[in-house]
Parts: sequence; C-alpha cells; structure tokens
Amino acid sequence: MSGRVVAVAVPLPVQSAFSYRVPEPMLLPERGARVLVPFAGRRVIGVVTGAGETRARDEKPLSLKNVIEVIDEASLVPPPLLDLADWMSDHYLAPPGECHRLILPPAGVRASRAVVRLVSSADAAPDDPVVALLRDGAVRVSTLAARLGRDPSARLDRLREKGLVVIEQELDRPGFKQVQVAELLDAPVASLGRAQAVVLDRLRSAGGRAPVPELVRDRPHLRSSLQRLAALGVVRISEERSERRPEGMPSAMKPTVVPTSDQERVLRPLLEAVESGGFRPFLLHGITASGKTEVYFRCAERALRAGRGVLFLVPEIALTPLLIRAAEARFGATVSVLHSELSLGERHDQWWRIREGGARVVVGARSALFAPIEDLGLIVVDEEHEGAYKQDESPRYHARDVAVMRARLEGATVVLGSATPSLESHANAAAGKYARLSLPARVSPQGLPAVEIVDRREMLKAGGSEVLSPLLLEAIRSRLQRREQALLLLNRRGWAVSLLCRECGHQAACPNCSVSLTVHRRGETTECHYCGYLSRAASACPLCKGEYLRLTGYGTEQVVEVVKAALPEARVGRLDRDLARRRGAVAKMLAAFEAGQLDVLVGTQMIAKGHDFPSVTLVGVIDADVGLGLPDFRSAERTFQLLTQVAGRAGRGDRPGEVILQSHLPDHYALRLACEQDYAAFFEREMEFRRTMGYPPGTALLNLVVRGRQAGPAAREADAIAKGLRSLAPGRFRVLGPASAPLARLRQEHRFQVLLKGSRGAMREAVRRVLVERYGAVRWPGVAVDVDPVSVM
Ligand SMILES: [Zn+2]
Ligand SMILES: [Zn+2]
Repeated sequence: MSGRVVAVAVPLPVQSAFSYRVPEPMLLPERGARVLVPFAGRRVIGVVTGAGETRARDEKPLSLKNVIEVIDEASLVPPPLLDLADWMSDHYLAPPGECHRLILPPAGVRASRAVVRLVSSADAAPDDPVVALLRDGAVRVSTLAARLGRDPSARLDRLREKGLVVIEQELDRPGFKQVQVAELLDAPVASLGRAQAVVLDRLRSAGGRAPVPELVRDRPHLRSSLQRLAALGVVRISEERSERRPEGMPSAMKPTVVPTSDQERVLRPLLEAVESGGFRPFLLHGITASGKTEVYFRCAERALRAGRGVLFLVPEIALTPLLIRAAEARFGATVSVLHSELSLGERHDQWWRIREGGARVVVGARSALFAPIEDLGLIVVDEEHEGAYKQDESPRYHARDVAVMRARLEGATVVLGSATPSLESHANAAAGKYARLSLPARVSPQGLPAVEIVDRREMLKAGGSEVLSPLLLEAIRSRLQRREQALLLLNRRGWAVSLLCRECGHQAACPNCSVSLTVHRRGETTECHYCGYLSRAASACPLCKGEYLRLTGYGTEQVVEVVKAALPEARVGRLDRDLARRRGAVAKMLAAFEAGQLDVLVGTQMIAKGHDFPSVTLVGVIDADVGLGLPDFRSAERTFQLLTQVAGRAGRGDRPGEVILQSHLPDHYALRLACEQDYAAFFEREMEFRRTMGYPPGTALLNLVVRGRQAGPAAREADAIAKGLRSLAPGRFRVLGPASAPLARLRQEHRFQVLLKGSRGAMREAVRRVLVERYGAVRWPGVAVDVDPVSVM
C-alpha cells in the first residue's frame, strides 16, 4: 500500500471507494478489515479494499481524513470473497460498499485480531524490542503497536521472513449467548435434602448432563439446591456457548440409495473434478424426478472428505423443505441452513458458526452465496434457471453468474442443475464453456406423465365454466374417489384481475403506479402488486358515480372457491405470495398437503418448484397463457419452464401421472414443446427468436432506468444519457430509447428506459463514462443500472 493511505468502501449507495489516512501508531489495516471512518458528517463502518490514492486526478495532493478506528486487524472474510465483492462492483457497476456489505457478518461489530507468536529467537538481534515483548507469550499486534509507540508492521514482516514469528488471525468471540450447563460428577453423595435429591434425579434421567434452565424451568427454586450441590462437589456447573438455532423440522432419515446407471455416469466426471480441485463448471440437465439431489449429495460427500466446504443454493428455502430435511439427515450437524425467516440473532450465530468452521455445508437462497466458507470445494446451484436468483435491487446481481465466478476464484467445482436450463447456461454448455451432463430418465419406473391440452376457446363457446373444463373437473373428481391428490396451477394471485365500471369503462388503478389494481378477498379489497397499495374495493365508480362495477378475470382465490363449489367434499388449500406473508404458513401448507390432509392444492408458480408429493397424480394448469402476454423477451422461456416443471410434479410415486393444460393458444410452441418435454427443440426454436431479435444469450443487455417524481425532468435526463451513449456506441453496441418503461410509473415515480444491446464490456465502459461525466464519480441520482437484466419490464 502506498504510504499510510487506504481505500475504504462505505456501506452507502456511492459509486467509489474513498481514501483515508491511517495515523501512527494505528496499525495499517489489511484489505478486508473493517474501519470506522468519518463520512459526510457521520461515522460509518467501511471495509478496506486496498491502497488508497494520495493524489487527485489533477496531480494535487489530496487532503485526506483520518481513519478513526481500525476494528479488525486482519481480514474478517476469506480472501476469495473480497475478490468476489470487487468483481461484482465492477461487473454490475454497483457501489463497492453495497457489494462488500453482502460478505460481512449480518450484525454486531465484533472484531478479528492478529496475534504474534515467537517461534524462535535464534537469529534475532539481541536487543530487538519486538522479540523482547514476545518472550512471555503471544501478543496482539495492536498491543505491540501501543507498547512500541508506532506501527510494528514493517518490523514484523522482516521477522516473519526470517521465520522468527508467526502472525495468526483470531476471531474475537462474538455476541453468543452463554448458557449454564450442569454435569453430574463421580463424587460420593452424602445425605441430601429433598430438593437436592429431586435435582439429582432430574440430572440422572437427563443422562448426567443438562442445561440449567431446562433442569429448573418448572421449579425455579431448585436453582439454589443445584448451587449447593455444586459447592459440595457433586455437580459441576460450567458456561457454554448457546447457539440460537432455528427450529428445524424433524429429519426424515432416508437410507442412501444405490445410484442408477445414469447417476453413475454423471457422477464419474463430477467426483473426479471435486477430487482433483480447480475451477470446473458443469451443467447438469436432468429431467424432473431424475434424481439430481442424490448426485449433488454424493458430490458434497466427496468434497467434505477432501476437507473442503460445500455451498448449496436453492431458489427459495421455504419451498424446498424436503431438500433441506434430506440435507440435514445426510450431513447432520455440519449443515447450516440460511433461511430467510431467520431472526437477526440466528443469522449472526450461523454466520460465525460457518466462519469458524463449525458448519461446512451451507444451504440457502441467493444471499447464502456470500457465506464465509473457507476453502470452498463445491457449489451447487439447483434450479439454476429460476428468476429468483436475480436480485432486483442494487447490487443487481445474478446469483448463478456470481456463483460461477466464486467457484473460479475459489478453485472449486460448480454444478448448475435444472430440468429446464436457462438459455444462457445451455448456450455456455453448447459452446464448451461448461461440461454438459444429462439425466434423461426418471428414477421411478413411471416415466413422464400423459399430457392433454384443452382449448379454452371451445370451453367458452360451449358456455361452460371459465375456470374448470369438464375434462379437468372430472379428472379432479376421479382423484378424490381414488384418494389421490391434485395440483392446480394458476400463476395469478388474488380474487379477480381488475375492477371495471360497466357504465364508463373506468378501471381501478393504483395511484402510485401505472397498473390496474388486483381484487382480493372476494372483492372486498384491491391491492397493487407492485407497491402494495391497499384499499377497500370501491362500491361506486369514482369517475361517473355509476354503481355497476364488474370484476373481470380470476386469480387463485377464486379458483379455490370454484373447486369447492363444484366438489363440496374436496379439501382445498392455497399456496401463493399472499399466504407467504405469514411466517411459517408456507411450510405448514406444504406439510398438510404432504400428510394427505388436503386433496387439492391451488397455487401460483410456488407449487411448481421442487416438491415431491408421491400421491399427486394430476396436475391441472388453469390458464397456461398467463405469462405469454407479457411484453418481455423471456415470456416464452418462462412459460416453457413453468409448464415443464409443474407437469413434472405429476406421477412421482408408484402411480402414473396425468397433466391437463387449459389454453387459448394451444398451438404456441412453448406450450406444445413443454407438453412433449422436448427441451432440445425448444432451445433451437427460442435461440432463433433471440438471434433474430438481438436478445441474450447471443447479445448482452444493459438496461438503464431513469426515474423521477416529475416526468419532464426525468425524460430530459434520459434523453441526455442516451445521447451521450450514442456518441460512444458505433460498432460496439446499439442504444434503444429512451422510451417510457413498460411499467411507466412505479411508487409515484415516472420511469424512462434506455436499453443497450451489444458487447457487455463496451456497454459497461460507456455507461460508466457517460454517468461519471454527467453526475461525477460519487452518486448517480435517479439512475438504476442493470447489467444482464433478467427482464426489461
Ligand atoms: Zn364509471
Ligand atoms: Zn402501486
């Protein structure tokens, strides 16, 4: 580092790191150490990202502020994570502080410290003051600095080179709760009082060892008897660290299965890669129920045996209870599950458990990607095609892509698994960047379910129900008779799609966003699905005061009522985001369905995820076209993936499955090919569309959204930015817009969009240049940059 100046990333939406001077005798902090610094009139905790600048761009020396305090003497996280945060900030044009915040512990300012130990004093100068201070034992580096009156780093480096001292990193005990534990000793027991005898009895029946609070929970007065026993030497009471562990579900121990020949075939190269180490990316394309999880677990076992850590990413923890339970049963205490419902305290404890090596297998959603696992050997990204891996707020990263980068930095194997790989990953495999492996058959002897498409246009002409065709209704009825289960998919929550005035055609719209309000609770309330604006459904038109309001369309709530009305004996449940708002409700619903307490489960795409319900023999798709009408280049891909995945839920046990799709567009290729589960044909067809239209994966996208309270100024900003970009574009990328964003108003702000297509590197550089020229290097107010957007809506 140049002089005593460091670059610090502060946890604020600013686009650059800032330089600070480190005054003597303060230790020069390492990269990755946290420091307390003054920033814009406050004190903030930042992370050292490297050496700072001492001169401004115009060659004048900078006048720098001082670091107030060095919190960590050594980096708090493993070095590859620091590189990862730097890479993200550069790749996504995201504020460095926001990227670094992802890799830090979730709460509490606990420090890591560096401790120096004398190994030998043979070659030391006899009067070396550092050696003299170390003769009585290890000393913290900061203590040395205080005793010597200056930073000992340079001196320590020389001693370290000579092999005289070692510097070790210790992590300060963070804020774990302590618990008292009582233990029975093998001491002779003299005559005891009654209460003392009770305590001893309890302790014996607990196996001779128990936490004190549990021992005396119902009778607090026993605590004093326990203390007397301790004084007598009959019992020992000691303090232990108590971890706030989230309540886990009971583990259903499943015996390890013998791999099928297909599994054997894909495992060979995978295990070889895990064994030999080094960056090796794989795409595991396995159809639904082909046994991908077993493949993941075997790879994980191999990595653990090689002494390396394992990271397991899933799109959403609440929707994968089976996988979590299986992982806990298979790997036991070394698993840490990072659940989105963890309290801050639980999250903190898990972070430190992972950091200290107490957990070597980490399972979690998007943010688990940044778990501080040391020496990571394997990363699995399950259902890699899922949109949930993309974060839609700054930093706008894609967890799959960042996972591949982390594997590269760690020298690890990465496995991207899916039944319907994203076009990006499949194209990478086709280009030879990823090794492609496939599991083409189901593990069970049932094979794929039979699929039938119902033309909804015929349904309506025949004057039947808008929701259930006679075919689907009969299919559900027969499941009830056979005590089997059915899943009904409708990717639209709520009661009705909108509230319309029959007199003047006015549609209830959100006052904050340019979208119509969705009707909920049997028509009682209306809600905006973008900003959450909630109100009572109007009883009269606000425009013409007409009283004839009409509900149009229907959502999951109404499907439940329709099924109940047609089949009163059916026990029907619902699974969607409205349910997910209540803590634990999703897990409860899934458990009830799994236990057979429900016959039919109606839901949005949440029911299409990796569930494995052996009694489900029917999957009905109420309206297969929901996603196709959206102005998004991925709509066909999403529809294909959703339908293939949900169809894969049928017939996973020992009975064959049946799938019924209702659609207005029965000839659409996304539907047809999903029915045939023909991924290869879909890939060809969709790639052609993307090539023709200039969309990924052949071309990279970068989306800029300029927003503001007032439309005029925001539009002018967008205009100026587009103009600047156009001047840099020729031959490297195309600039589309500015145009009103598809969602033209959101949370009271007007939005204008500039879309770039072309080479990612060139677009990124151009955007950086234009925005720095316009706004400076620190803040880009009102501009959101999305590199590799998943959607451009
Ligand atoms: Zn009206
Ligand atoms: Zn809204």
